[in-house]
Amino acid sequence: MNIGFTAEEEQFAAQIRAWLRDNLTGEFAHLIGKGGSQNDEFYEDRLRWERLLYDGGWTGLGWPQEYGGRPATVNQRVIFEYEYAQSGAPYRVGFQGTNLLGPLLLAFANEQQKHRFIPRILSSEDVWAQGFSEPGAGSDLASLSTRAVQEGDRWIINGQKIWTSHAHQSNWIYLLCRTEPDAAKHKGLTLLLVPLDQPGVEVRPIMNIFQGDEFNEVFFTDAVTTDDLRVGERGQGWQIAMTTLEFERGTAVLAYQMQFENEFQAALTLAKDRGLDHDPVMRDRLAESYAELQVMRYNNLRTLTRLMRRGKLGSETSLAKLFWPGWHQSLTELTMDLLGPDGEVVGAHYSLDPFARNFLLSRAESIYGGTHQIHLNIVSERVLGMPREPR
Ligand SMILES: Cc1cc2nc3c(=O)[nH]c(=O)nc-3n(C[C@H](O)[C@H](O)[C@H](O)COP(=O)(O)OP(=O)(O)OC[C@H]3O[C@@H](n4cnc5c(N)ncnc54)[C@H](O)[C@@H]3O)c2cc1C
Repeated sequence: MNIGFTAEEEQFAAQIRAWLRDNLTGEFAHLIGKGGSQNDEFYEDRLRWERLLYDGGWTGLGWPQEYGGRPATVNQRVIFEYEYAQSGAPYRVGFQGTNLLGPLLLAFANEQQKHRFIPRILSSEDVWAQGFSEPGAGSDLASLSTRAVQEGDRWIINGQKIWTSHAHQSNWIYLLCRTEPDAAKHKGLTLLLVPLDQPGVEVRPIMNIFQGDEFNEVFFTDAVTTDDLRVGERGQGWQIAMTTLEFERGTAVLAYQMQFENEFQAALTLAKDRGLDHDPVMRDRLAESYAELQVMRYNNLRTLTRLMRRGKLGSETSLAKLFWPGWHQSLTELTMDLLGPDGEVVGAHYSLDPFARNFLLSRAESIYGGTHQIHLNIVSERVLGMPREPR
């Protein structure tokens, strides 16, 4: 694992810094440090920012040029994420498209689908939601019951999804449906791309813990899509969904790593400002948090090195997902302790201090992308080769 950068890479970093310095200003200056995985603040402005990133050539690093991408090595992608986070640029509204669906389409879609959708993901003309979880199928995703029935070249869809992030802001959803009811659970699923703006789809927001409506219920009543929007073969949906979740746990974690480094620095500054950097217990907790942040960083770099060598990720991405939510939850608990009673104060319209907001939002991190317990199962069965969980 080589963790140094070449002169050429340093130059690339300088280019990114200069672009961000010149553009994250004026009408976009108020976006510094804004937004988050469950935090929709300044959504429309961040969407305009995303389009500016696209115009600047920064949204498709490492993606094939024929679909609107720009050649880049894995190191250059890491450098971009790092510089992006360092500048305080806002959380990316196109996360679902650029980090999850885009890689999925590159791996499984046909040429026509790639040419149609990938450039529009990069330009944020299309915003995507992920329709996997259902009221009766979360951890046990293969039990899902949303049905899609083929009629000629159309699919008719009936059922319900839940916890669908950003569905109320998206125009498309990638939907895991049961299409082969007589096949074994895992073999009866197919992935369909479905336009959300149609009479058969109803999106109902769910209020989250800090009164944001980031996620939704989505109801399908004779909703329609066409067979040219089926990704992969009928019955291949499970394999495709699992690969997507590996992207979510593997490369997407990079963006979090950089955000966490910023959050750690903010916690350290808070401790100093409050004179608590002399408190032995707080010092101990800060030092432990810092050490674990470095462990996480090197583990992420190791994952990337594997990705460069093998071209794909595997079950070991679960190790990262076992680690970072717990780390983040501990850091946010520490910041609440540093704030003391001030952390309990809520402003007008339930506006929260960023530390308090991160504390609340971090609770979800050990649930989405697979719960902590599910990743323990994956590591024990697929990484350590222990006996399968009895079913
Ligand atoms: C903020 C947020 C955003 C989300 N966004 C999306 C989205 O955009 N699209 C989408 O499709 N889904 C999304 N989800 C849903 C998420 O994927 C599910 O919540 C998750 O998979 C868990 O499923 P569940 O909620 O049904 O919990 P359950 O599966 O019912 O789990 C309940 C508890 O039982 C435990 N458990 C379950 N099975 C086992 C087992 N075999 N062994 C040990 N313990 C077990 C779990 O660990 C958990 O503690 C989101 C969730 C959150 C919190």
